[in-house]
Amino acid sequence: MDDRAERRSGGSGDAELDDVAVGIGKADGGGVGGGGFADPADFAGELGDGGVEVWDLEAEAEDAAGAAAADAFAEAGAEFEFESREAVGAGEAGFVDQAGPVRRNEVEAEDVAIEGGGGVEVADVHGDSNGGEGDGAGGGHGGFYRRRGRCGGAGGGTLCPMPNLIIINGRVMDPASGFDKVADVAVVDGRIARIGPKLARKHAERVIDATGCLVVPGLIDPHVHLREPGNERAETIATGTAAAVAGGFTSVCCMPNTTPALDHDAMIEYIYTRTDRTGVCRVFPIGAISKGRKGEELAEIQLMAKTGAVGFSDDGDCVASAGLMQRALATVKVTQRAIMQHCQEPTLTKGATMHAGAISTRLGLTGWPRVAEELIIERDVRLNRGIGCGYHVQHMSSAGSVDIVRRARAEGQPVTAEVTPHHLLLTHEAVMGGGGGQGLRGYDTTAKMNPPLREPSDIAALLEGVADGTITVLGTDHAPHSMADKELEFDAAAFGIVGLETALPLYIEALVTPGVIGWMRLIAMMTTEPAKLCGLDHSGLGQLAVGGPADITIIDPGQPWTIGKETIKGRSRNTPFVGRKVKGLAVATVVNGVVRHDVRRGHEAVESPQMKLGKQKVGVSG
Ligand SMILES: [Zn+2]
Repeated sequence: MDDRAERRSGGSGDAELDDVAVGIGKADGGGVGGGGFADPADFAGELGDGGVEVWDLEAEAEDAAGAAAADAFAEAGAEFEFESREAVGAGEAGFVDQAGPVRRNEVEAEDVAIEGGGGVEVADVHGDSNGGEGDGAGGGHGGFYRRRGRCGGAGGGTLCPMPNLIIINGRVMDPASGFDKVADVAVVDGRIARIGPKLARKHAERVIDATGCLVVPGLIDPHVHLREPGNERAETIATGTAAAVAGGFTSVCCMPNTTPALDHDAMIEYIYTRTDRTGVCRVFPIGAISKGRKGEELAEIQLMAKTGAVGFSDDGDCVASAGLMQRALATVKVTQRAIMQHCQEPTLTKGATMHAGAISTRLGLTGWPRVAEELIIERDVRLNRGIGCGYHVQHMSSAGSVDIVRRARAEGQPVTAEVTPHHLLLTHEAVMGGGGGQGLRGYDTTAKMNPPLREPSDIAALLEGVADGTITVLGTDHAPHSMADKELEFDAAAFGIVGLETALPLYIEALVTPGVIGWMRLIAMMTTEPAKLCGLDHSGLGQLAVGGPADITIIDPGQPWTIGKETIKGRSRNTPFVGRKVKGLAVATVVNGVVRHDVRRGHEAVESPQMKLGKQKVGVSG
């Protein structure tokens, strides 16, 4: 089920409980069944952002189940939960309370008047009720809404909203809605309950002061390697997600080049199961395009999509066969996911270890030419012209590639592209060493990447691509390797660097500080854009919406720090950025309402209660 909260933006008529952003629930007692809880329920809220709009919604609830459950609601001092789901039109809402059985209630809502326009919903949540011996209250909202409140004593009282968490005084930036102002964010049971100025914080279980910080949707990385199963000495889902939250990421998409590869539905299920058991952020698997990533036969793409694969890639290797690629594009198109291509024509890059240029010549290393990337993009764009599958270029490195993607997008083709921090900040000269990495001077293996670091002219083109919207997605290509795989002679060393904990400040340095893009666009490229690419936007991820999942990242934009090996939480520490002075830090990361990282309290990932973060929670389905 897609539990994303649909939001009402205007109109009147039959209300959909489903659509009420946040409401005041008022339950008058003496209703049906002799219990304290009854009807009608009033919902009221405010739509704010440039003027406050208020609407009233009256709903009638008819108790279908009788007095027993109602009594539980009326019991003074009882704590209860209210849950409504799938209320459409004059629909149904289920009321759940801790003390009794589920009651099904017919809810008919009428008399809705919404004045004014849209904007971000900012609403008050509180309620009171009068009924029998005690008070009940409820808020109606979203496809899934849950509120826990403590009822007042006998004879009437006010429901106290009890946020689990309230983030105060931060500059709340949400690219999805354009909201950008200083506000508080209240979180209840894993969902964002309210966004607004000066929210009551008295009863919050925890308050995070975000003064001077940005409060943004949890960052999403569409390209990581978690190495589980098969290479757990380099990284695991546990250590990789710990690195993710330390870097401000609340969702990561893991590539299928594990051992065995993620090439059938049981492997996709495995990633979700392992994440539920050991992960501290959401992990969404990318399924392999070909069986065993061998590039010969299509993998079980449909089944994997149904099981929750959010995209398809043979990353680490290119789908070199044009025939297979054509079938893959047609097959993946049906799943409405995207193909993510690692663009590397293999016959042009045999034995290649770095960019083909002056430095590879000087060092006597085999070069990886730009054209090997460009050819594949050009070919795939042409193959896809009559098919129209979502096509995503991973870790783009060459100036020529930017031109090809720009043209394809101008034609209206569904083509997207991503860059990584290292391709924006480093050139092939990093292989000469001096970046603080390991390896002999002249053969710094921490600078060995695939695709390779290129030249200043490529960086300039990539930056232009970001600035003009050709490149829309920022990834990390987080590629952990154990020292044993990296501290080898250059030809034998593994490709790639870790990136989850350093991406944010490096992107700030590459893109925001020089004015290539502003903060809002940076956040969009790390939230809404990757969410769209992987279909996670349907689950409310990548945005800050009242009623949506409480995945939130708090960024101190000016915090200076130095990247050090000892600061890295992941299992591997292979990066040429060690020793670099950077600015900007994810100071806190909230996943599904749980604080998973808070620099002021030390890292909390390990101590936090485990919460199921699997696909059911965010409504991923085939
Ligand atoms: Zn790759």
